[in-house]
Amino acid sequence: MPDGYEKTIEKTKGNLFMEVLYKSTRSDGTPVTASQAILKGLSEDGGLFVPDHIPTLDKSLSELSNMTYKETAYEVMKLFLTDFTEEELKTCIDKAYDSKFDTDVIAPLVEADGVYFLELFHGATIAFKDMALSILPHLLITAAKKNQVKNEIVILTATSGDTGKAALAGFAGVEGTRIIVFYPKNGVSPIQEKQMVTQKGANTHVVGIHGNFDDAQTGVKQLFNDRELAKEMEKAGFQFSSANSINIGRLVPQIVYYVYAYARLLSEGELKEGEKINVVVPTGNFGNILAAYYAKNMGLPIEKLICASNDNKVLYDFFQTGAYDKNREFVLTTSPSMDILISSNLERLIYRIAGNDAGKNTELMNALSGEGKYEITEVMRKELLDFYGNFATESEAGQTIKALFERCGYIIDTHTAVAAAVYGKYKKETKDGTKTVIASTASPFKFTRSVMEAIDPKYSSMEDFELVDELAKLGNISVPNAIEEIRTAQVLHKTVCERNEMKTIVKNFLEIK
Ligand SMILES: *Cc1c(COP(=O)(O)O)cnc(C)c1O
Repeated sequence: MPDGYEKTIEKTKGNLFMEVLYKSTRSDGTPVTASQAILKGLSEDGGLFVPDHIPTLDKSLSELSNMTYKETAYEVMKLFLTDFTEEELKTCIDKAYDSKFDTDVIAPLVEADGVYFLELFHGATIAFKDMALSILPHLLITAAKKNQVKNEIVILTATSGDTGKAALAGFAGVEGTRIIVFYPKNGVSPIQEKQMVTQKGANTHVVGIHGNFDDAQTGVKQLFNDRELAKEMEKAGFQFSSANSINIGRLVPQIVYYVYAYARLLSEGELKEGEKINVVVPTGNFGNILAAYYAKNMGLPIEKLICASNDNKVLYDFFQTGAYDKNREFVLTTSPSMDILISSNLERLIYRIAGNDAGKNTELMNALSGEGKYEITEVMRKELLDFYGNFATESEAGQTIKALFERCGYIIDTHTAVAAAVYGKYKKETKDGTKTVIASTASPFKFTRSVMEAIDPKYSSMEDFELVDELAKLGNISVPNAIEEIRTAQVLHKTVCERNEMKTIVKNFLEIK
């Protein structure tokens, strides 16, 4: 172990913190600080940064139950981002969780049908990506200052719909940054596309590609690993960073709301201190559920982590069999943000259950990029007992929306519906009566058409914005700002490209010859 690798450092207030450093999942090179990991996004060897240990919550659950969202955010994030000062972190948190959110509690809990829906969609773009992407730009700029970075930061992002807009909203107009977003031209909802292509800000660039999300993500990864391009960028005064969920600056803020949800339930007397909860997460890239797993490992009383997939059920099969196999048909569903066959963040879990063995993990990841599949050992499978995986078909998800609305008058979006449907299967199978939180990842207004058609097929003849008004009436909820804004907004981004043109597009936008 290198000198000072796990040194304890004294913070100004006199508390003793164990410094957390970040290592790549693919090599045993020198670990980097949190701010360096945020700046780099992805490690040079193609690996993901992981904390060298998962810190334990240093406030009791009852102390946490008296805290606001911002206070909770500080308590969680300070444990992971140990090279940020208290002032730096608190400034980032203040700038992120402000009036961009339409409620002071930031992440409200709604009880319906015997479960708690944790509404993570009250930010600027009405999907859970806002929870992390409203703070990432501030973490990134702070990290750049701390590391004397002079280059302009270029955020390169592949999106299955929601990340793109949330990242654009987070970075638009932020000095010292530019952002380029690639999305699958025919793989996002009309409202998602409209949200992105109407984005204002001279530092923003939105490009549709002919291909699916995995194509976009693979293309972006290649650009990140392109040494020649990196040199040209450096010469022109640019460097890449990532706003994708592989950035630990995305992952860490997502841990916060699980801690916050538990603390809220405790303060409202719904839980006894220490009582365990289940968490259900509609999953695509495995970022959100990984954050819940980290929360559990920090000491939050979580029993099962229920991983819900749609028809692209590669994760369900993985939990069933121990074999991850992306060689299958890619299905376009009504929960497009979960239409993913390569769940990037799973690599962090694989690394951990491989005993933090970079060599073993690299072997598996090479098999994934080579043959499109890998299989974990029996010993590794035993480490997955915290997880339960299942999936919901299109019609199961649709029926769940309809049934919940008819029983409780509560309307959920298509992604949350996948989670609720999977939870139904879990309960039926296990009879587990543990109190359960479902991560509600998008506002129903973001997927209005699919949601309304699930409730009643008669809505299929209506126009998109008519449906928006109808949904507001039916659910007795007001139309979010994010939707009002795009009713009349002008399309500002019209570029569409082939998969092999992504590099040219980037160079053109940055005016690199
Ligand atoms: C991104 C997204 C998901 C999937 O989250 P991951 O962290 O990629 O697993 C689920 N639902 C919605 C609405 C999303 O935007």
